Amino acid sequence: MNTPFDITLLARKNVRQLTPYQSARRLGGNGSVWLNANEYPTAPDFTFNEKNLNRYPECQPVNVINRYAAYAGVQPEQVLVSRGADEAIELLIRAFCEPGKDAVLYCPPTYGMYSVSAETFGVEQRVVPALADWEPDVKAIASQFDNVKLIYLCSPNNPTGNIVEPSLIREVLALAKGKAIVAIDEAYIEFCPQASLVAWLKEYPNLVILRTLSKAFALAGLRCGFALANSPVIELLLKVIAPYPLSTPVADIAAQALTDQGIEAMKQRVTEIVRNRTYLADALKNLPNVEQVYCSETNYILVKFTDADCVFRSLWEQGIILRDQQRQYGLAGCLRISIGTRQECDSVITAIKNRQTANV
Ligand SMILES: *Cc1c(COP(=O)(O)O)cnc(C)c1O
Repeated sequence: MNTPFDITLLARKNVRQLTPYQSARRLGGNGSVWLNANEYPTAPDFTFNEKNLNRYPECQPVNVINRYAAYAGVQPEQVLVSRGADEAIELLIRAFCEPGKDAVLYCPPTYGMYSVSAETFGVEQRVVPALADWEPDVKAIASQFDNVKLIYLCSPNNPTGNIVEPSLIREVLALAKGKAIVAIDEAYIEFCPQASLVAWLKEYPNLVILRTLSKAFALAGLRCGFALANSPVIELLLKVIAPYPLSTPVADIAAQALTDQGIEAMKQRVTEIVRNRTYLADALKNLPNVEQVYCSETNYILVKFTDADCVFRSLWEQGIILRDQQRQYGLAGCLRISIGTRQECDSVITAIKNRQTANV
């Protein structure tokens, strides 16, 4: 009998070596309380208005573009809508980075998809760890800037929750002038809208801002995100996007989420989540095995435990799924907890206390 041919030998080398993004869904678990993906804890209600599924959708549905532009305070030609912000992260690499020649720069600890997307396209990664306060190390960035075409900065940053100091972003933009795209990932900006850098688009032709409906808009399952930039950049991204990135139902619901009423509902969710965040953070600070609760401007908090493995495992067994951040740069002992309902916050606190009594 012939030995079966190993089909993986046909794959590109970088794909064979690639570790796919460890998404919360992929990691599994048998939970009843899901606090590992920064989702909103309950489902918003929508009905489908658009039923002519016999037709291809618009590539850039005009209602979605116009409403998002009005919401974000930019012109429609400065907006690209994509299959989640994740697709926009990838489109930037596709449009701007030559494999084997250009590099992508990012500053861990941060969102994992910058690395995964660069790896998928065989584009070099320039990894410049953040400083102890999680601000970008601008000097180190400057010294490692050769061939860098694209920089991702996440603000507020996932998983640390802090806003990146704007004056440092200005320094990075100055370094990148005429050389590289600076993409600011504002996936959580609705939780701190005053920190948005959208107004800077007027000054910087190489600035891109990434947004999503997955977090404050409570629509992670919809898969809808945005890139905001000056129109020459948007035109380039439109060259490499799929012909029909959004299905008709996605465009339909995204347009509804962006009505005045939809935006008002989003703001109410933000108020509720911020209230629960304070509640959970205060309760955690009183627990003896909590070393630090980091300040957050988002819908999650990063918490450093004296016994993070035990907390993670014990809550997992109690059906409460958190995100283990211990393998991220500089985050030993840290778990990330998404802010859920008030009841879910209470279950986290109770479960951590139960673990303690079980261990005494
Ligand atoms: C959740 C998240 C995204 C991805 O958003 P989608 O629109 O769901 O693809 C991008 N960046 C950061 C920092 C995120 O946390």
